[in-house]
Amino acid sequence: EIVTRFAPSPTGFLHIGGARTALFNWLFAKHNNGKMLLRIEDTDRARSTPEAVDALIDGLSWLGLDWEGDPISQFSRVGRHQEAVEQMLSSGTAYKCYSTPEEIEAMREKARAEGRPPRYDGTWRDRDPSLAPDGVNPVVRLKAPQEGETVINDMVQGRVVIPNKDLDDLILLRSDGTPTYMLAVVVDDHDMGVTHIIRGVDHLTNAARQTLIFKALGWNVPEMAHIPLIHGPDGAKLSKRHGATGAEAYRALGYLPQAMRNYLARLGWSHGDDEIISLEDMIAWFGMDAVGQSAARFDFKKLENLNGHYMRATGDAELLGHWKIYLQHADGGDAALFWLSQSDNEQTALTALPGLKERAKTLVELTESASYLWRQRPLDTDEKAQKILNEEARTILKELHNVLSTAPNWGSETLEAAVKSYAEERELKLGKVAQPLRAALTGRGTSPGIYDVLIALGREESLKRIEDQSA
Ligand code: GLU
Repeated sequence: EIVTRFAPSPTGFLHIGGARTALFNWLFAKHNNGKMLLRIEDTDRARSTPEAVDALIDGLSWLGLDWEGDPISQFSRVGRHQEAVEQMLSSGTAYKCYSTPEEIEAMREKARAEGRPPRYDGTWRDRDPSLAPDGVNPVVRLKAPQEGETVINDMVQGRVVIPNKDLDDLILLRSDGTPTYMLAVVVDDHDMGVTHIIRGVDHLTNAARQTLIFKALGWNVPEMAHIPLIHGPDGAKLSKRHGATGAEAYRALGYLPQAMRNYLARLGWSHGDDEIISLEDMIAWFGMDAVGQSAARFDFKKLENLNGHYMRATGDAELLGHWKIYLQHADGGDAALFWLSQSDNEQTALTALPGLKERAKTLVELTESASYLWRQRPLDTDEKAQKILNEEARTILKELHNVLSTAPNWGSETLEAAVKSYAEERELKLGKVAQPLRAALTGRGTSPGIYDVLIALGREESLKRIEDQSA
């Protein structure tokens, strides 16, 4: 069985690059009828707060990415990491090193002076342990091979060869007995039964060191796929100055998880020229052979257009659900949420959604164009609406109020017929009538279709708003 893992360090949020790594692990597992595990690399105790872990889980859940079993805490496995080091000490693939920090510093300086990369000189590698000085707690180092090369047959990067002389005797256990990150990853991946390690290419040099540890322990080395990093539109590594870098920030910016998923999948992976790919197709088509080596550029405009597509393609009831989640996480979503919680307003929103989603690329835009529903009378008016509402318009509104208040019912056909016959009678172009109506009903110069608005507001509220702006 194929087993992948997503192994984030809790940084306080789910980074967009991490989200993409998680998605690739998830898709690869699903495609192969395998499973994805979640390991929290929480050995940095200061950063690994429950809130930081929750933020990761929240981001993954929003994106619809699930994992098998409970999240695994790396920190909780310290005893097991130490046990693996005991195994290496007794098999002779690791050794205790008693060099003091001063001695290590002297080695570094010497190397620097000779123009070599600073590294441990191997003093204790073959030294008789009975020479150990009193009162010094040793670190444990890997007895790395000094000859030959380490080869990684990476599913994305191809054959990567690292001469072993470039890899030094890395530390496995610190002098206080705590495991290093390099060791912990290997022991965890082995114990979790991970068959495929999929992560950012920034971990490629670690991969060589980890391969040595796997081998020293006599364990199989998992397959590896090091995926390209995500860059900003300018080609520099994606960072805050490009825009939001947290997955949850995209939720607050009004993006749908399905759009985000589709967009992230195509950051590094492709299927021909397909831009819009359903989740089913993504799972069916996903594979490392179609993951390129060059960095993917994050294109905010593309994401927005894709989101617009998913807004239109998503059914109204489902969209309403995403909208509510968005409102819970957006600044100033309270008024809309309160309105939605009142009596029949969810039904009203469902009726208005088809008109609203046609013109909105994000839930932010949708909320703005829906805001006429919960804004209170007398409506604030934007500049465009103020311009529309001149003397002539106010007279038209007064007459329209008479026409509409005698309409036999509040159905869209009746309303349309009433407005049209009024315009004909007064020999006015339809826009001359519709624009004041729009400005009065929504306070805006642009809005969803005017009959949709009349129906969503209902008879009483519509007539009051028209009256507010009448001459
Ligand atoms: N915790 C590492 C990170 O967040 C990932 C390590 C790995 O995937 O092996 O970058």
